[in-house]
Amino acid sequence: MTGFPERPVRPGDRLRPAVRNSGSLLVDNIGELVTNSFGAGEGGPLGIRRNAALLVEDGVVAWVGSARDTPAADRRIDAEGAAVLPGFVDSHAHLVFAGDRAAEFAARMAGEPYTGGGIRTTVGATRAAADDELRATVRRLRTEAMRQGTTTIEIKSGYGLTVADEARSLRIAAEFSEDTTFLGAHVVPAEYANRPDDYVSMVCGPMLAAAAPYARWIDVFCERGAFDVDHARAILACGQAVGLGVRVHANQLGPGPGVQLGVELGAASVDHCTHLSDADVEALAAQRVDCMCTEGGHTATVATLLPGAEFSTRSPYPDARRLLDAGVTVALATDCNPGSSYTSSMPFCVALAVREMRMTPAEAVWAATAGGAAALRRTDVGRLTRGARADLMILDAPSHLHLAYRPGVPLIRQVLHNGVPQCRP
Ligand SMILES: [Zn+2]
Repeated sequence: MTGFPERPVRPGDRLRPAVRNSGSLLVDNIGELVTNSFGAGEGGPLGIRRNAALLVEDGVVAWVGSARDTPAADRRIDAEGAAVLPGFVDSHAHLVFAGDRAAEFAARMAGEPYTGGGIRTTVGATRAAADDELRATVRRLRTEAMRQGTTTIEIKSGYGLTVADEARSLRIAAEFSEDTTFLGAHVVPAEYANRPDDYVSMVCGPMLAAAAPYARWIDVFCERGAFDVDHARAILACGQAVGLGVRVHANQLGPGPGVQLGVELGAASVDHCTHLSDADVEALAAQRVDCMCTEGGHTATVATLLPGAEFSTRSPYPDARRLLDAGVTVALATDCNPGSSYTSSMPFCVALAVREMRMTPAEAVWAATAGGAAALRRTDVGRLTRGARADLMILDAPSHLHLAYRPGVPLIRQVLHNGVPQCRP
């Protein structure tokens, strides 16, 4: 823990002596507070309040209101008129791996197409790595993401692809995240290349049994060259039968059945959604659930868009406008992985979504916070309202607009996770 912008107590302040990281904490002098509370403040999805303050007690938001009317607190952080947002919720990341694929990236930028085949390179390196090596990589990327405002991050397995290596990947992931996802069906490993049925049986049997104690979710890469729709359905159903929630890597490299399979199985999210038919969009838009976050609730299955993958594979971006205009709830996530999207930066994804996918800055910020929470079926994060986790970021900027307006600039001044100030960048 290093210093954070705490103003000395001045005469007239209703503050008791500072006790770091215990008691109540007031964040005040907030120029623009993004609450993601529909109908709050100025209305609109971001629920923006001007000249606001926020009180944290026991790691949760205890009070939100006007800076003129603040309650007493043990400590204070002066936001100095800056924007304060909910921490980013990155609902799609592959952090448990060894090695990197910088050379593959360079070859791709020189014209080679992306096929997903490089996943097997990372599988070999991951199997050969010691636990502590994998743990150090997750810790490094988790810290890197936190510095860029990410306070919740989903972490998938999927580079082990043996019973023991998938279980240990998830055991390590669970040290860093409540949202861990079993992705034993990432690709068929080389040793099963000619007998995918046998691999699927193994995923549904001993691998799932070993992985499930450490996982909240199950995911399948449903794509040509990975798993077909029958295999994907069988694997996801096995996961559901042991209580795991469903997510699907779908329609990334071409059109396919993944999105509609996800909707059929009640998936929390279908991810990528780069190549969608009208029927895919209609299926996503058809099922809605109530929530406190947005008018009319959100779609039961969220479309999670991962523009870092299109950036890093030089591919066409998903059509976010088509989804949004059809009423589909959209989340943004990094897809952080060593092959197709080696970024942990949600601000970068927000900027791409605005510039390349025609989302408004407000839509992109909502998708990267409340949208990610919806994709993880979390109601405790992605918003700054009473009772939410005190996960927030203070920008070096007066408005959320700057995240897209000033791409590539480190604008995250301070991050609070569970109400605790994190190391400064
Ligand atoms: Zn992925």
